[in-house]
Amino acid sequence: MATMRSPVESGVPDNKQYLHPTLRKNYGNWRYHDRPRPGVLHHVAHSGDEVWSVRAGTQRQMDVYTIRKLCDIADTFAEGHVRFTIRSNIEFMVSDANKVAPLISALQENGFPVGGTGNSVSMIAHTQGWLHCDIPGTDASGAVKALMDELHHEFIREDMPNRVHMSTSCCEINCGGQADIAIIVQHTKPPVINHDLVANACERPAVVARCPVAAIRPALVNGKPSLEVDEKKCICCGACYPPCPPMQINDPEHSKLAIWVGGKNSNARGKPTFMKMVASGLPNNPPRWPEVSAMVKKILYTYKEDARSWERLSDWVERIGWPSFFEKCDLPFTKYLIDDWRGSRANLNASTHIRF
Ligand code: SF4
Ligand code: SF4
Repeated sequence: MATMRSPVESGVPDNKQYLHPTLRKNYGNWRYHDRPRPGVLHHVAHSGDEVWSVRAGTQRQMDVYTIRKLCDIADTFAEGHVRFTIRSNIEFMVSDANKVAPLISALQENGFPVGGTGNSVSMIAHTQGWLHCDIPGTDASGAVKALMDELHHEFIREDMPNRVHMSTSCCEINCGGQADIAIIVQHTKPPVINHDLVANACERPAVVARCPVAAIRPALVNGKPSLEVDEKKCICCGACYPPCPPMQINDPEHSKLAIWVGGKNSNARGKPTFMKMVASGLPNNPPRWPEVSAMVKKILYTYKEDARSWERLSDWVERIGWPSFFEKCDLPFTKYLIDDWRGSRANLNASTHIRF
């Protein structure tokens, strides 16, 4: 007899099955929450149930031993449930206040800092980098590690005017997202084409279609089908490199790092905002990226000194104005910070102040 095929489901599974029992029972029925100390969230439900979430920083790209260690801590010192936040922090839930202090001690003894809540510098959202992706121009994890080593004390305290979210992007075009302060790769030279490989490795129409400024044309080079780039038009975005690796754009000297500020996804007290580039041409200098860390710290601590309580970085810049931001942070305003590509008319029209 024919049996019915079970439907093939795809997509995100229902998360309720994985929730801590107290969270599942009181889903959507919370009375209030507070933070007894940095790194600990305390939620009280209308039913009277309480739950404490202890947040610790992780390095995002984790080996299986580290994940097992975190799970052992969850089984021994918490109640066997964990969840990851969007900034790669891990949270352990407990329904008894007496379990919080031993859990914090266990995490700290194993090298996981507890913090990242409220007005702290939370863990940097970093992109996948060389481990998973094929187009990075720098090592996202390395720059994050170097910077968070220096900002560790801001992770475990809540001393900032408001929360500070940072991100890194190891190429110029894809993941990373909006952040109060972002570190982003910046290519400064057009791609160098390896004509011997283009015909074998690249789908030329797809590469031509990728270019946002129509700078790529099909060409015959040494009798072989290849591509050519109009270097006057090229904006060095790197979009042609992923579909066509023979169009090499990563360069140890000419691929730099830029700092962008003022982005946020939240709509609390103001609309979400896009970040803007404020420093360009910083050297891509592994293994500790000292120039990048120094620049981020300069901006971060100027914001900490000067912003009013509860101002996000974008709110602060909005209040003092961009000229003042550059003066206070002691940053030069150069021509490289001006949006001068042919589509900038549309970008500038998105501003509330400029209309063409
Ligand atoms: S930022 Fe770019 S290179 Fe880095 S992981 Fe994302 S897509 Fe890949
Ligand atoms: S780097 Fe960007 S602008 Fe330049 S050729 Fe490639 S896709 Fe076009």
